[in-house]
Amino acid sequence: MIRVRFHGRGGHGVKTAARILGTAAFLAGRHVQDSPIYGAERRGAPVAAFARISDEPILERGVIDRPDLIVVADETLFRDDPATVLAGQQYAAGIFVNCSDPQRFRGQIAPTIRSIAFDITAANLAKLGRPSALSAGLGAAAARLISLVGEDQLVQATREELAEIGVAEETIERNVEVAREVFASLPPLDFPRLEESVSRERNANVVYDGPVRGAPSIRHAGNAALRRTGAWRLERPTVDREICTRCGLCFVQCPDGAIALDGEGYPIIDYDHCKGCLICQHVCPMAAIQAQTEVAAW
Ligand code: SF4
Ligand code: SF4
Repeated sequence: MIRVRFHGRGGHGVKTAARILGTAAFLAGRHVQDSPIYGAERRGAPVAAFARISDEPILERGVIDRPDLIVVADETLFRDDPATVLAGQQYAAGIFVNCSDPQRFRGQIAPTIRSIAFDITAANLAKLGRPSALSAGLGAAAARLISLVGEDQLVQATREELAEIGVAEETIERNVEVAREVFASLPPLDFPRLEESVSRERNANVVYDGPVRGAPSIRHAGNAALRRTGAWRLERPTVDREICTRCGLCFVQCPDGAIALDGEGYPIIDYDHCKGCLICQHVCPMAAIQAQTEVAAW
């Protein structure tokens, strides 16, 4: 059995990435299982998803604590809780990180296992004009690295899974372009042969591990001020004071209380805690708030 564990944030599309991988493997004639686990149901909150692929019926359940491959959608997760993201790394043949600067990652965070990096965010920006919803690229990275899935199966799975969640046809085709680019750019990893892996791990594991894997940094009540949710941000809101009329709507509507008003009534954003939901941008009647892509929100 090959076990793939995805780590990302709400908005990255790791659940759909696991679905794409699972469906592609199913189309390739394998037995598959995929599932997500959430903590806080908020954009930017840590999320994990799992995919198991086997040539035999899959009896194992629960979170994957001994992954063959770890796929990370956002390198800032290493800062939040590296122990969770790297749990079971000693079993893994490799770790993939979506990263704008592979040198920043390679050899530093997980020096004992093979690391592979590719800038899926840049591919998304080029083909879709947005840094989030990386499911096609993440699914393609996993599919390529485990080399149990062909490009045609990956493309069909990407189309099916994105259509199922209501993505428009034109956007699906752009996602397919991202998937093809990622698939063509990565080398297959050297995994143990599937048959050998199945005979090694035949027993069922039904332990349920709770939401810790999904939300590694939210475990106690009353911790909002302590948690620097700025690391969750995919996009950074900025206020144009030339346009702002100081109406205060953004200050009132920010769900995290991350906006204060200065002595003149202009909004000041607390970037340690702004998680980038962009509700402030949405409610601003003057379009005075812009959003810029974060590369590393910390
Ligand atoms: S400042 Fe804006 S983007 Fe940040 S948490 Fe508040 S509403 Fe969301
Ligand atoms: S909602 Fe817009 S105009 Fe009103 S205070 Fe905020 S930034 Fe300024």
